[in-house]
Amino acid sequence: MIRNISHFVGGSLLTPDAGRFSDVFDPSTGAVQARVPLATAAEVEAVIANAEAAQPAWAATNPQKRARVLMRFVDLVNRDMVELARLLSSEHGKTFDDAKGDVQRGLEVIEFCIGAPHLLKGEYSTGAGSGIDVYSMRQPLGVVAGITPFNFPAMIPLWKIGPAIAAGNAFVLKPSERDPSVPVRLAELFVEAGLPAGILNVVHGDKEAVDALLTDDRIKAVGFVGSTPIAEYIYTTAIAHGKRAQCFGGAKNHMVVMPDADLDQVADALIGAGYGSAGERCMAISVAVPVGEETADALAAKLTERVAQLRVGPALADGFDYGPLVSAAAVERVSDYIQQGVDAGATLLADGRGFSVEGHEGGFYLGPTLFDHVTCDMSIYREEVFGPVLVIARAADYEEALAMASDHEFGNGVAIFTRDGDAARDFTARVNVGMVGVNVPIPVPIAYFTFGGWKKSGFGDLNQHGTDAFRFYTKTKTVTSRWPAHGVREGVSFVIPTMH
Ligand code: NAD
Repeated sequence: MIRNISHFVGGSLLTPDAGRFSDVFDPSTGAVQARVPLATAAEVEAVIANAEAAQPAWAATNPQKRARVLMRFVDLVNRDMVELARLLSSEHGKTFDDAKGDVQRGLEVIEFCIGAPHLLKGEYSTGAGSGIDVYSMRQPLGVVAGITPFNFPAMIPLWKIGPAIAAGNAFVLKPSERDPSVPVRLAELFVEAGLPAGILNVVHGDKEAVDALLTDDRIKAVGFVGSTPIAEYIYTTAIAHGKRAQCFGGAKNHMVVMPDADLDQVADALIGAGYGSAGERCMAISVAVPVGEETADALAAKLTERVAQLRVGPALADGFDYGPLVSAAAVERVSDYIQQGVDAGATLLADGRGFSVEGHEGGFYLGPTLFDHVTCDMSIYREEVFGPVLVIARAADYEEALAMASDHEFGNGVAIFTRDGDAARDFTARVNVGMVGVNVPIPVPIAYFTFGGWKKSGFGDLNQHGTDAFRFYTKTKTVTSRWPAHGVREGVSFVIPTMH
């Protein structure tokens, strides 16, 4: 029987019996397993009203007590980790262990947000003038919204929910309609942890629901993660409606391989970072840039050997390196890119098309694909493929490799593999990309640093998680206070006060 997925509004599940719905698949079998309601603008407005009514009391709750809700939430998620990871795998298609990582990386940001009482402290200067003290305070914005992608259905919602609610805001999440169940479970766990009803709401939907959030005056900030064209649309629409916005988009992450690097370490790192989660990670490495022909030839041989050994199968079965893609459309899109690479003259070292898993013939599988001799004008180099496709784009020297990563329109992540500290230091200083790994293939910063790409990978001026998140979800109020001695009069002044 096809399950109906619910919205989560005002602390309870809400299951509409009419309206528009979208199918939710099990990518491992290709079968429809549930249907998710797509909210109307009027339904979204009702959710916002609910959040707005609940927010002032939550903002007035002292930050230590708010943080305790997050503490209890961490325990509850750990209690239910297996259930959450299984649910996540069954809708996304990533392996069970990788799904646990998805939940865990989200949880690490919640752990950071438990420090909210400290992170929300303002500044204080005494004696700025005679009897004058100046201090600042961080206040919540009110009701804020998050619109999140399919590829991290636990981690990215938690990156946004954690700092927003710890800072005293109410939150409306519009998760991906392709794997919507885990965000609802997380909202239920927040309420079980003691979060008041209405502070965290999950509303499913498509463009209609998103546009309702973007144009409603009661929404004060929008955090988005997804593909670049939608990120750009959300950013421009949100700011045109007077909101704060931070919108993170697509990626094309390069790994520069210097001639002195240990090529076995490099090949292992590339296989994990290129094909893990079927390449459906914004921090996946999709371009290997070996420096020099000798490095390139040796690397291509090592990768070809390892690609042949990759095991692809159902998300929840044991012993597979990666599972299916999220949808049949994704398989078609990635297969089309592979054909474009072939047509453009790249060397196809491994072709993942036409891959199927016995007993799961309807699943959305693609085998690992590897290209060599890819050049910067090819679509498989310029565009985000978002699948298990790794390309080798050879560079003649270090400067060319650095320029390739720096000049690409995306600027999310990049890595350099080398034993040469001088080269690594120069690279980290000069490369025009937001997150850099040195002998680390997927440099997703830990929770207490910030996460954000540059160029077409990020719109807005503050990053996700870390201290930036608390800046994004609060506004700063600055108070100048004066307590003149009783009875002292200084007369009227018509001149702007200065420190002269
Ligand atoms: P997507 O852009 O299709 O969807 C993201 C969200 O936007 C979803 O909630 C979706 O319902 C909504 N949406 C889609 N079309 C819309 C429209 N026309 N109007 C309004 N809302 C719309 O992205 P996706 O396929 O779910 O996720 C994959 C993409 O996300 C990749 O490009 C990946 O690189 C990117 N991503 C980026 C980061 C990052 O931090 N930079 C992290 C994860 C994923």
